[in-house]
Amino acid sequence: MSIAIALDGPAGAGKSTIAKRAAKALDFIYVDTGALYRTIGLAASRKGVEPKPSKEVENLLSEITVDLTFNDSGDQVVLLNGEDVSGLIRTPEASMMASKISAVPTVRAYLLDLQRNIAKTHNVIMDGRDIGTVVLPDAKVKIFLSASPEARAERRYKELCEKGMDVKYEDVLSDVITRDYNDTHRETAPLKPANGCIMVDTTDLDFEQSVEKIISVIKENI
Ligand code: C5P
Repeated sequence: MSIAIALDGPAGAGKSTIAKRAAKALDFIYVDTGALYRTIGLAASRKGVEPKPSKEVENLLSEITVDLTFNDSGDQVVLLNGEDVSGLIRTPEASMMASKISAVPTVRAYLLDLQRNIAKTHNVIMDGRDIGTVVLPDAKVKIFLSASPEARAERRYKELCEKGMDVKYEDVLSDVITRDYNDTHRETAPLKPANGCIMVDTTDLDFEQSVEKIISVIKENI
């Protein structure tokens, strides 16, 4: 039987970087489910499909294939109709499109089996918004990772600047707040702590301390 760790929390809490390191240390596979919503967002943008419930979104889902694979270093690669879009989905526009399209119930239903099947066949740390509440409610350990909106915006801002993107801190903070609102207020699978989850706040922790904390929480509860 494989072991699943569900890691949920708002945008920019550092889930992906922290979970990637923790997964390497524990020899688990790290699964970033946000990449799947981003990929569907990209597919919709390319076809000019609005990110809201509609026949167009349903048609789009029936026309595309989304796959998750892992490269030799164990890093996740996401494929849209066979094309590696892992880099293309990391822009602020793609973030906002993902946030909107993830509220569409048919999109969430479309991605459910894909996520569950990965957890059936691998030991995973799966990162998202509804992993402990909907996707893997029976996960061995459920963690809700958060930090203040300002701390999260500051980290995301630095990350985007390091990638050479021309962004303003105020815009990043306003995106974080908008995405928090979208994630917590949607009707289907809203972001909220799962029953029995362990709350971890990283506002006052640096990256290494956050990794340590997550690894120790997992080891104590596995
Ligand atoms: O985690 P990331 O910021 O890459 O996710 C992009 C968007 O996808 C989020 O803003 C959120 O709205 C959505 N998402 C979701 N459920 C998940 C993972 C991501 O709704 N399990």
